[in-house]
Amino acid sequence: MGNERASSQPAATGRVAVLLPYPLHGAFDYLVPAGMALMPGEHVAVPLAGRAVPGVVWDASPGAAPAVAREKLKAVLRKFDIPPMPTAMRRFVDWMAAYTVSAPGAVLRMCLRVNAALEPETARLGLRPASGAPARLTPARERVLRIAADGLARTASELAELADVGPSVVHGLRDCGALDVVPLPLPLPPRPDWQRPGARLEPAQQAAATALAERVRTGGFSVALLDGVTGSGKTEVYFEAVAAALAAGRQALVLLPEIALTAGFLQRFAARFGVAPIAWHSELKTAERRRAWRWVAEGEARVVVGARSALFLPFPKLGLVVVDEEHEHAYKQDDGVAYHARDMAIVRAQLAALPVVLVSATPSLETLVNVDADRYARLHLPERFGGAGLPGVEAIDLRREPPPRGAWLSKRLVEALAATLQANEQALLFLNRRGYAPLTLCRACGHRLQCPNCSAWLVEHRFHGRLMCHHCGYDTRLPAACPACGAEDRFAACGPGVERLLEEVRALFPAARAEVVASDTMAGPEAIAQLVGRVERQEIDVIVGTQMVAKGHHFPRLTLVGVVDGDLGLAGGDLRATERTYQLLHQVAGRAGREARPGRVLLQTYMPEHPVMQALIAGDRDGFVAREKAARRTAGMPPFGRLVALIVSSADEAAAARAARALVAAAPGGPGIVVLGPAPAPLSLLRGRFRFRLLLKTPRQTNASELTRRWLAAGRPPGGVRVQVDVDPYTFL
Ligand code: ADP
Ligand code: ZN
Repeated sequence: MGNERASSQPAATGRVAVLLPYPLHGAFDYLVPAGMALMPGEHVAVPLAGRAVPGVVWDASPGAAPAVAREKLKAVLRKFDIPPMPTAMRRFVDWMAAYTVSAPGAVLRMCLRVNAALEPETARLGLRPASGAPARLTPARERVLRIAADGLARTASELAELADVGPSVVHGLRDCGALDVVPLPLPLPPRPDWQRPGARLEPAQQAAATALAERVRTGGFSVALLDGVTGSGKTEVYFEAVAAALAAGRQALVLLPEIALTAGFLQRFAARFGVAPIAWHSELKTAERRRAWRWVAEGEARVVVGARSALFLPFPKLGLVVVDEEHEHAYKQDDGVAYHARDMAIVRAQLAALPVVLVSATPSLETLVNVDADRYARLHLPERFGGAGLPGVEAIDLRREPPPRGAWLSKRLVEALAATLQANEQALLFLNRRGYAPLTLCRACGHRLQCPNCSAWLVEHRFHGRLMCHHCGYDTRLPAACPACGAEDRFAACGPGVERLLEEVRALFPAARAEVVASDTMAGPEAIAQLVGRVERQEIDVIVGTQMVAKGHHFPRLTLVGVVDGDLGLAGGDLRATERTYQLLHQVAGRAGREARPGRVLLQTYMPEHPVMQALIAGDRDGFVAREKAARRTAGMPPFGRLVALIVSSADEAAAARAARALVAAAPGGPGIVVLGPAPAPLSLLRGRFRFRLLLKTPRQTNASELTRRWLAAGRPPGGVRVQVDVDPYTFL
């Protein structure tokens, strides 16, 4: 290639730095062809290894090494007709690369996921009646012409479908000149109407809404935490901040942790602003994705609601970022460029000087510590909307009240279920485990069915009739005989998943309409929206669900929540296990009794005395947070210290172990700096690669990213060994 970026000369001399969406070192230099003017941020196509690839003109980086000789440079091929990437966005890419210890190109790649969007959308062709009459009129042709008579242009297939004829009939009419080919109008971006009246807010809601809207109007960087109990109307409140951004002619971005939550959100948004916002998530079709991307780049997309990847959209006039359910771990991406979308949203807002609103009923410790330090403002909604009370939480001590053999629901929970159904109300049974059973073993020899690529058990999914690995996606049919001893029909399912729980509910209450809701049974936002509708219309009595139904949804007649295994999240015990369990169970509990009918939460646990359970029962969030904060501070753990995880992996176990040891030997030192490991990762084999973990722990004021970058720059891992960096890790598997 010989094109490596090494110059600080401005574009005027006829060369530019172009950042390419690949994990290469820095930007590369290219020549600017005569007659082409290029500004930083512009989207171009350049040659790379014999191919034309997209890139972005990057700002010259001063102090770089001497320039590559001009004769060796290749020229920019073309410039795309699309607004340049905003300066704040380019700084964000650079910042994020430095913080996550990644190549800037790897971050740029997340911003350019839709190459096709670089070209303007070409109009599809449609058909419209022409003046010429067809030579021969059949009944089928007549039907088509009757439909077309309104003069609207339609695609050939639409016409054929409306007229109930085959496509050849329509093509025939086109070929004989009875239908003209015309370009179809392109869809227009939705225009949310902020002047429509919003909900009549209660005084506490109004105070919070006014404060948020004021921040948007003033502009500039600020972070506010909207801290309100479940059902307090946080969404209605931050809608007023969105309205303020729209009124100021700005764009707004609302991040949601999971697409499971977007369906309900889109509806509520439409009720407030007259149209749905633009959605951005992994399930979009290519055409929708490229259109959304371009609308954002052109400033035409006024409000985008999306998963964490929406943070990388090129908003030119962003005026507000909302991070709903800010405490959610779904905001953390662990592979590739490992980042936390909440934290990066704050950085992006800081670089672009705009306000951020973090929203939660159970804010993260990180955020609460920033509130304590007055870095973030806090707006509080202490009560549920409309006078609804918070549900009462009772523990069921499974040591004293065990479920019958082979069952998972204790007597008290079953009785509560019966009473709920009797009262014509709905119940949610929460078990955060997909599938039928987490483990299948052979009763003859004790062999456990395991993933061939990972150190993990295969999970039986009876609905699909498969065994699946939840780590790598491997799936297979349940074998007829044990692969170890050959015994037939001796498999035993161990432990419950939601599918097995459903079986129990159906056996206990044959007349109740019960259903499983989990990510593998709900494909995409439409399926979720449908399900929500069915729950609202009371076509479902008992939801048996994973965390997919734990959050965000508002079901007026849902009055009972049964937590089937409250201890599940505490096993493994990583840094945030208690915090995460508290948040999740609190969210689930918050689904109960959101309107007039009071809610009740039954929490099955073997550890009713555990601080998490105690805090849930007493409704004592502050006490729980204070304990957790003290524990982390004493241990120097985040947010009071910094962690960087390194995962060294290879298909060759010995090579990975050697490389991990070599890294430890070269580890940085200094006051308060500790390197733990190497240790085989709890998930020691993943997708066929053996994994070792190292953990760098530093004081809070240390620039742990820079320290890690220098550490890794000292030596390259041998061939086949990968070192993955995770700054601020959330998973320790
Ligand atoms: P949260 O996000 O705090 O859990 P939501 O925003 O989902 O709460 O509000 C709970 C329910 O109360 C929703 O159905 C919402 O439409 C309704 N609601 C909240 N505030 C108002 C209000 N001021 N007027 C009318 N309905 C409201
Ligand atoms: Zn696997």
